[in-house]
Amino acid sequence: MTEQDHTVKNQASESQTEPLQDTSVQKSEDTGPEKSNVKPFPKPGKMKKIVCPSGLTVTLRKMQTHEYDYFDGATERDVPTITTSILNSCTEQVHSPVPAFYSLSKEGNLDWMKVLTGDRLYALVQLRILSLGSKYEFTVHCERPYCPRMIHWKVDLDEDIPVLDLPDESLEALSANKPLSFKLPDSGNVVKFVLPTAEIEERLMKMEDNQFQTKITAQRLLHRIVDIEGVEPNDRSTFLDKMDIDELAELQIAMDDADCGIDTNIIVQCGGCKASQEVSLPFGLTFWLPSTLERNRRRRRRSRSSKE
Ligand SMILES: [Zn+2]
Repeated sequence: MTEQDHTVKNQASESQTEPLQDTSVQKSEDTGPEKSNVKPFPKPGKMKKIVCPSGLTVTLRKMQTHEYDYFDGATERDVPTITTSILNSCTEQVHSPVPAFYSLSKEGNLDWMKVLTGDRLYALVQLRILSLGSKYEFTVHCERPYCPRMIHWKVDLDEDIPVLDLPDESLEALSANKPLSFKLPDSGNVVKFVLPTAEIEERLMKMEDNQFQTKITAQRLLHRIVDIEGVEPNDRSTFLDKMDIDELAELQIAMDDADCGIDTNIIVQCGGCKASQEVSLPFGLTFWLPSTLERNRRRRRRSRSSKE
């Protein structure tokens, strides 16, 4: 990927792997909350201190075999929940100061279900780099209808994924425990919204499972909207459903601009028809189980040669 937004800062290149030679030194240097449960086998070089897009700073440790087991029998749908659990178990330390809008448990633990999706995705990419390296190979279908090809692509997660920091206005609003707001350009109504977390996304996924659901786009928005000025709570879904489509676009842009995270849209090119297309970086099972991809490839190669 060659195109990068100049306004974004790639923190991935700044956060370095920190071999923690002596965890007691690490603890005495940091005034942040500590976990009470002592973990027996932290080995040097297997941890990394990362700074998420909101400023949240944590030390992650490499994934271990028992975390690999979380994926046993999992489908693509299970991946967000599983990876959030893995982040919870791989977070060794939360460093202070913690952004004001995050609360920690008595033991000093962070609940990644309640963390901004932007921070969580950044941390997941860092955990993947720490555990399995920064090279990520994946396969997508060529979108041209006449082209039967699969596109095999490779990215360097350290270099090719731009990081979008949390804008100062969002940081201020969230720290003051206030929602973000946007004034709709035509109707003039002020919409107040929150930024996504795994918890919100999970509720959204459950809602989308309901096949009788109507007003889908309005319902999706309502998971993040806490108030629309001049509109009664019961009328919000109808208000959003009847909103002009250009106002919808403006609102969605404002909600995106207020957010943080990583830019996962990348341009890939088909080796057959040479057409380029934009795809969203797949964060599914192959992201976490690259050996599965490799195993399938080997199997395909073997089955082809056996036919010849
Ligand atoms: Zn093609």
